[in-house]
Amino acid sequence: MTDFAGLRAVVTGGASGIGLAAASLLAARGAQVVVFDLKPDVPAPLTGIAADVSDDSSVRDAVSAAALQLGGIDILVNNAGIGAQGTVAGNDDEEWHRVLDVNVVGIARVTRATLPYLRRSSAAAIVNTCSIAAVAGLPNRALYSASKGAVLALTMAMAADHVREGIRVNCVNPGTADTPWVGRLLDVASDPAAERAALEARQPMGRLVTAEEVAAAIVYLASPLSASTTGTALAVDGGMQNL
Ligand code: NAD
Repeated sequence: MTDFAGLRAVVTGGASGIGLAAASLLAARGAQVVVFDLKPDVPAPLTGIAADVSDDSSVRDAVSAAALQLGGIDILVNNAGIGAQGTVAGNDDEEWHRVLDVNVVGIARVTRATLPYLRRSSAAAIVNTCSIAAVAGLPNRALYSASKGAVLALTMAMAADHVREGIRVNCVNPGTADTPWVGRLLDVASDPAAERAALEARQPMGRLVTAEEVAAAIVYLASPLSASTTGTALAVDGGMQNL
């Protein structure tokens, strides 16, 4: 299927996990795709540009370079994110600022720099990678949950602000997804097998979500198939939201 033929996409955090799966699926559907990442090593036909979403000048340079390379930008997937464990008592101010700067302000920065190009597109769509943590109380994830709650609110506010410019804004809420991110969590667990089993048991389907399943939701929200949909959060969480 080539429903993205002629469309140009930027995917942040696209060198790994959900972002890489989304970038790859967009490219397989016919889009030209540029990935922004700290280390943008990506397989062809994707191309990578080094960018740190927590650094405004890096973001502005990367967006200009992507727009030049692609001849414009129609689709922005704001996917770059970092995790944080702990209760509200456990993270200091520095950690709060670091995580919010990437997960929330990062979306504002990349979107701000990309909006002039999206305004010129007739198929403009933004998809933010949010999380089940925005709508469910996950233990030991206070800071991360707060950051994703902000992403959900930001998605709805951006949708309202830009709907009359023809720019749609939606987000996906993955449950625990089997990506290198979760691999890193398991690496530091005292009993990785037991930790993995606990993560699987937390989702009613009894398994982790795959990066490809989240990518499919991102691609749907970026595509003309969802042309009347804006300001929504699509759960890809193995039923976790209904617990
Ligand atoms: P991942 O660690 O595999 O990939 C994240 C990518 O983002 C990495 O390539 C990393 O280099 C990049 N990145 C991090 N900081 C960056 C920065 N400052 N600038 C540019 N790129 C940066 O993780 P993933 O699981 O694929 O997560 C992707 C998104 O999905 C994140 O926003 C995360 O919060 C969200 N999410 C993940 C899960 C999960 O269980 N894996 C669940 C819900 C939501």
